[in-house]
Amino acid sequence: MEVLRSLLPPSLRRLWTSGSHGKNKELVERLQLYGIIKSKKVAEVMEAIDRGVFVPPGSAPYVDSPVPIGYNATISAPHMHAACLELLEEHLQPGMKALDVGSGTGYLTACFAMMVGPQGRAVGVEHIPELVDFSINNIKNSAASTLLKEGSLSVHVTDGRLGWPDLAPYDVIHVGAAAPEIPQPLIDQLKPGGRMVIPVGTIFQDLQVVDKKMDGSVSIRSETPVRYVPLTSKAAQLHNN
Ligand code: SAH
Repeated sequence: MEVLRSLLPPSLRRLWTSGSHGKNKELVERLQLYGIIKSKKVAEVMEAIDRGVFVPPGSAPYVDSPVPIGYNATISAPHMHAACLELLEEHLQPGMKALDVGSGTGYLTACFAMMVGPQGRAVGVEHIPELVDFSINNIKNSAASTLLKEGSLSVHVTDGRLGWPDLAPYDVIHVGAAAPEIPQPLIDQLKPGGRMVIPVGTIFQDLQVVDKKMDGSVSIRSETPVRYVPLTSKAAQLHNN
């Protein structure tokens, strides 16, 4: 089959690739074409971690939009995952430590784990226990399953506004839900030289990039306007269900 496929022109080869891995690869290629993914490493990791494994059955994983995952939460759009990985790439070198706050489906936690590798550490924190179970199951079905099994990747139920002090300080903190203001515990748990990416605001939100310098001072800049679900209490989040 592969031989036959390779004889086809690229346009027809695409149609031949009907498996989910092929569709995920096409999604990554589109993000590269639009200039959202620039780094080879980010492309490799997003290819390896199949978005189709992380969305609920029956939804469209390979379209560039957020998908509802229940509990008033969504998996972010692929271009947001890509943009955050690009912003954080330098701080996700092998052996480094990353915290994913509001880890939801576990998609980005898995990507972080792949980037920091077996000598590194990726931790997801999420306050809905059912989503933590969902994410662990998703990760088990993904290319990051060995990292979960061997312990360089873990996901925990907690209020992410408090971070995860057990493994602090972190080279990277990613927040997947919009905070009215940057929680101080997250700033405290960022390593000097580390970077946090966090959506900040209520109705109008900006994706902010927080760099902690070696002397412990922080600089903050706004990257782009965004729209995320709120980083809030569990009761407030489930209120509308
Ligand atoms: N990056 C995730 C985003 C999920 S949406 C993904 O792409 O799958 C944001 C997530 O933040 C939701 O799962 C929501 O339950 C969680 N969340 C909101 N407030 C939180 C809090 N205080 N502590 C932990 N998780 C929180």
